[in-house]
Amino acid sequence: MSDFEGLKALVTGGASGIGRATADLLAARGAQVAVLDLDPSSVDKPLLAYQADVTDDASVRAAVAAAATELGGLDVLINNAGIGAQGTVEDNDDEQWRRVLDVNVLGMVRTARAALPHLRESAHAAIVNTCSIAATAGLPQRALYSASKGAVLSLTLAMAADHVREGIRVNCVNPGTVDTPWVGRLLDAAPDPAAERAALQARQPTGRLVTAAEVAGAIAYLASPQSGATTGTALAVDGGMQGLRLRPV
Ligand code: NAD
Repeated sequence: MSDFEGLKALVTGGASGIGRATADLLAARGAQVAVLDLDPSSVDKPLLAYQADVTDDASVRAAVAAAATELGGLDVLINNAGIGAQGTVEDNDDEQWRRVLDVNVLGMVRTARAALPHLRESAHAAIVNTCSIAATAGLPQRALYSASKGAVLSLTLAMAADHVREGIRVNCVNPGTVDTPWVGRLLDAAPDPAAERAALQARQPTGRLVTAAEVAGAIAYLASPQSGATTGTALAVDGGMQGLRLRPV
């Protein structure tokens, strides 16, 4: 497929996991792709790499401007950089709340703010935010992370409304448990990682974790001109977790 031919995309958190799979997929489908990441050292050609911290407005502005100049514009923004947090409201202090909201919510705001002037110049402008089933699922031991992704969902809907008449579409994906380095780190921290992985897989309706490539495929659809009539939606990529809620398998 070459449905992204001529389109220019920026992927935040694009050095690892879902972001990397998305950057690689968009490039394979013809896009020119820039990655913005805290540590882009693993990113190689044809991807362009920019080091930036989404909590630092100046570094985000500089990276987005450099990417737009190098690519010759910007059609697609994949707002994907994010970090996790575990625990109830009693387990995370104010500093941890500020930190996670700063990365997961304000990070997307900063990147969008820097990218919007470029997206307005595009005939196929799209923003896709990486949200999570945590936004609406009421996951135990994930109060802070869930609140951050709830904010991403609301932000997606509000931005879709604000920019629809400018021709800029804004959607999000809601992944379930995705087999990325992030989840690998969580499993490695368990006393018996193999048993923990088996238990995690058993809790999935499909009996397996979602792959980063599957999330990338959904992101690519929402970013592509094929979804030109779709804005303000959240696409679940969760192995059936949400859809089958009332019919557990
Ligand atoms: P990952 O840890 O494999 O990759 C995240 C990337 O983001 C890394 O390259 C990291 O360097 C970068 N990053 C982190 N903080 C940054 C910052 N301050 N500035 C710039 N870059 C930064 O994680 P992943 O599993 O691929 O997760 C990507 C996104 O998907 C996150 O938003 C996460 O909340 C979401 N998500 C993941 C899962 C899952 O099960 N893995 C499920 C639902 C949603």
